[in-house]
Amino acid sequence: MTESIVDDSSPKDERERGLDALAKYFAAARKIVFLTGAGVSTESGIPDFRSTTGIYSVTSEEIFSIEFFHENPERFYSFFAAFYRGITDARPNAGHLAIAELERRCGKSVEVVTQNIDGLHGLAGSTKVHEIHGTLRSATCTTCDRRYEESFFSNDMLAGRVPRCECGGVLKPDVVFYGEELPAAAFNASRRAMWETKLLVVAGTSLQVYPAAGLPRECDAGAPFVVVNKTETPLDYQASLVFRAAIGDVLPQAVARVPSGASDAADA
Ligand SMILES: [Zn+2]
Repeated sequence: MTESIVDDSSPKDERERGLDALAKYFAAARKIVFLTGAGVSTESGIPDFRSTTGIYSVTSEEIFSIEFFHENPERFYSFFAAFYRGITDARPNAGHLAIAELERRCGKSVEVVTQNIDGLHGLAGSTKVHEIHGTLRSATCTTCDRRYEESFFSNDMLAGRVPRCECGGVLKPDVVFYGEELPAAAFNASRRAMWETKLLVVAGTSLQVYPAAGLPRECDAGAPFVVVNKTETPLDYQASLVFRAAIGDVLPQAVARVPSGASDAADA
């Protein structure tokens, strides 16, 4: 049952109590899993794919369909080069950094399951990141399956050319397109993280897109569950704590209240 919902209109003492409660959950848990979505990235200035002001208001979802890609790699890449530049100019924000700090400074075992493809959790310093919708930081040959790092394909792409493998095949960014399966290894690792976690924090996703939206159900029913999202989610009523506020505001303030050093977890 939800203990409390904190939003921007909450009185200061209520906000403080919410932040203290979240800090206590962080301090008590040996293992913490974050499930993150577009809301974490939008605070770095990256447009939300699905919001009305997002990227799909200027182009079609068709562009990220696998059929479109195979039939029109030139058109795809002329769009994708600008999209890529916008994303790779972005830097990790206070929310990304707070998650990384829990691991580095507070000594917690933290896993991040993310729907974001921008690689910002890794850049912020999180070491265990499961990118269930893939990443735009690498690409794979559609002919021979050879994988290439970002530095190999980004120059060609930004120069307006379709990046190609040494075998001549077209490279496809390792982003999950419409019509493609989620990467099995990342998704299975995410499910395992859910089973094992002692605390789940859902941040910046309204839990509308399956199968990611079903992942919280994999958690132990006894593990506390916290939602940080600007809008309501279908799982708010099951959460121990709900913040309808900016992630880059809530997480740093809560993490700052967690002691440094190895986990002093009661559940260890
Ligand atoms: Zn190849």
